[in-house]
Amino acid sequence: MSDYVNELMAMVKAKHPGEPEFHQAVMEVAESLALLFEKHPEYRTAKILERIIEPERVIIFRVPWVDDQGEININIGYRVEMNSAIGPYKGGLRFHPSVNLGILKFLAFEQVFKNSLTTLPMGGGKGGSDFDPKGKSDLKIMRFCQAFMSELFRHIGPNTDVPAGDIGVGGREIGYLFGQYKKLRNEFSGVLTGKGLNWGGSLIRPEATGYGAVYFASEMLATKGKTLEGKVCLVSGSGNVAQYTCEKLIELGAKPVTLSDSNGYIYDEEGIDREKLKFVMEMKNVRRGRIKEYTDKYKHAVYTPTDPNLDYNPLWNHKADCAFPSATQNEINGKDAQNLVKNGVFCVSEGANMPTTPDGVNIFLDNGILYGPGKAANAGGVAVSGLEMAQNSMRYSWTREEVDNRLKLIMKTIHRTCYDIAERFGTPGNYVNGANIGGFLKVADAMIDQGVV
Ligand code: NAP
Repeated sequence: MSDYVNELMAMVKAKHPGEPEFHQAVMEVAESLALLFEKHPEYRTAKILERIIEPERVIIFRVPWVDDQGEININIGYRVEMNSAIGPYKGGLRFHPSVNLGILKFLAFEQVFKNSLTTLPMGGGKGGSDFDPKGKSDLKIMRFCQAFMSELFRHIGPNTDVPAGDIGVGGREIGYLFGQYKKLRNEFSGVLTGKGLNWGGSLIRPEATGYGAVYFASEMLATKGKTLEGKVCLVSGSGNVAQYTCEKLIELGAKPVTLSDSNGYIYDEEGIDREKLKFVMEMKNVRRGRIKEYTDKYKHAVYTPTDPNLDYNPLWNHKADCAFPSATQNEINGKDAQNLVKNGVFCVSEGANMPTTPDGVNIFLDNGILYGPGKAANAGGVAVSGLEMAQNSMRYSWTREEVDNRLKLIMKTIHRTCYDIAERFGTPGNYVNGANIGGFLKVADAMIDQGVV
């Protein structure tokens, strides 16, 4: 590690103690940018990275709400408005008991670079709450969402900050949040993305992150003259990103064989086909069930419960060609990365945000794996959110085909940017450097143009 990165990280850890995920995200970017600063010291002199690291604004608020049994509950709400150099703050809301300020800062920081890569005018932000929607009635979810928006509405707006979904926030939650915003503001605007189709949503938004991660994998494979046809794929998670990753993989002739949730994973050696995926979608999205139910219906598949005593995740220890981590951060550690390489996986496209630990990333890079980091590979979701904002501004909707073609083109462009920049900075095939430097440049130049603000 260079002296520059060491000094920067010492500063970040002193100013932002106890936030390991945030430190991890900053370090990865700083290591890539050290290559850029050697050639362009002007960015270092202008302290652009030091400025990007500090959120422009952090809002933390109490979310008190009364549940359907009359009990009073108190959660913590957050919005991290990280950077608005190239557009309004944009990024999802996460509702999960593990949510804390450090996790949201890491996600908001990543979002700045990701949004820049999409080519669309969006700054970076992220928010959420330690509220756990799992197993809760629709009424409880609605009451919580209304209480959360009763404070958040003051800080967001279609030209200021435009939240979307993330873990635990899907179409149902966006609906309740939008309803409350509209009531409080007395305006119908594109303040949230991921809206329902009949009230301002965009076609392909639910599909976009998963489809985008698969398009990114196709682009990486094409550089080696390969396609996804016939490839065996490991997918983690069973939520929004995992479901539409599987859908696109099946469409392109690949064979997804795993899905998971926090309790365990299923392995279906015969492959998850359209009919099985339809079952999963109904089970997860309508009945809000658990992935274990897959083996109740498809008896040949194997369910393995999560074992907290293991230092690796057995999901990543099957023979396969490609992997699509689509659950959460740090779900692939060094041992998992070694297992993937050992089992023949040669392409990893991250649907989740920062799902691979730094030692795992190094193992992928050292072994020449086609490795698409989340801030590039999963940018399709926010890209279509940007297209939803554009459609809302025009008061017009594009067809499914139009949005999908734009998504494909954006993913192709992001891939090309990462690929070319990695080569330009002497690290061909290193999409981590490509994404970090590519995402940084546009934001950095805008910040220089706009002065020290
Ligand atoms: P989701 O619909 O809520 O699904 C999340 C899935 O991951 C669930 O199966 C969940 O299982 C599993 N999961 C969550 N936390 C876990 C943990 N600590 N350990 C094991 N499994 C866990 O969320 P999503 O929208 O698909 O998001 C998945 C990932 O993609 C996240 O990293 C998110 O930041 C990223 N991402 C999402 C979007 C988007 O458009 N939605 C865009 C870019 C990136 P349980 O049900 O057991 O919790």
